[in-house]
Amino acid sequence: MYTKPVEIVEVSPRDGLQNEQIAVSTQDKLALIARAIDCGAQRIEVTSFVNPKAVPQMADADAVAAGLPQRDDVTYIGLVMNRRGADRALATGRIDQLGAVSVATDSFAMRNQGQTSDGSVEAAKEIIEAAKAAGKTAQATIAASFGCPFEGEVAEERIVAMATSIAEAGPVEIALADTIGVANPAHVASLISKIREAVPQLPVRIHLHNTRGTGLANVWAAIGAGAATIDASIGGLGGCPFAPGAAGNVATEDVQYMLERAGIDTGLELDALIETNRWLTGVMDKELPAMVGKAGGFPKPADKEEKDAA
Ligand code: ZN
Repeated sequence: MYTKPVEIVEVSPRDGLQNEQIAVSTQDKLALIARAIDCGAQRIEVTSFVNPKAVPQMADADAVAAGLPQRDDVTYIGLVMNRRGADRALATGRIDQLGAVSVATDSFAMRNQGQTSDGSVEAAKEIIEAAKAAGKTAQATIAASFGCPFEGEVAEERIVAMATSIAEAGPVEIALADTIGVANPAHVASLISKIREAVPQLPVRIHLHNTRGTGLANVWAAIGAGAATIDASIGGLGGCPFAPGAAGNVATEDVQYMLERAGIDTGLELDALIETNRWLTGVMDKELPAMVGKAGGFPKPADKEEKDAA
């Protein structure tokens, strides 16, 4: 059994919203961030500093950064694809950590950020250097680590080589992203083990999409293989505009429920997450994918009495 605490990074304000058709207001994004903090989130991916023409939902990145609550106990991540994005994020003065993205295959890297896979590794290293020079931290995520929508299978050796190269720039962690939700628990465990062997000084974060229903199983496998941190999105929203068919991230409330019931501390409050799910359902005006958001947590004796009385 695993008993060490696991960190959950809340990604709903960025990955959760970036693929949604309805325009979510800056005010609602800031309300979501404030609610995530109230739920106990201590690291939040708040926005991405990308071309607003490519990702219109993130066009208000600067306004979101400007409106962030002043909190010493919360780390705000801004996602960036290149040096220009890094400079924009750092200029806000409100972003604590830059998140760089490298892509495992050329085809996906070209569509996602207009460069080759190798080019995306170089860009990530440049972003990490820029963050460090500005007195901030940075980490890098390797997108399509478990499979590519255009090229199919991705060799583990390729991901290990990318992580090893990125590590030279001094990120605070390496993340593996199952961008299109094709991973299975055996693959997750195998790749994390290889990354931990290759760059033992770096904690591993995992970013999972539940496109094919393997999300929670993959979370469990990732923790067993030594992942320190899980990305998750309240309500299970999420998707990538450049990955056909990508569905939502693993839902924060579902991950919290599974881990806390298994005796693993996440630092998050389930009741507050479920309440935020209800609020977000209203904002998005649709049912959200999260299961625990719908079912509620483990039955409490008070619930039983209520039902008995009814
Ligand atoms: Zn994602």
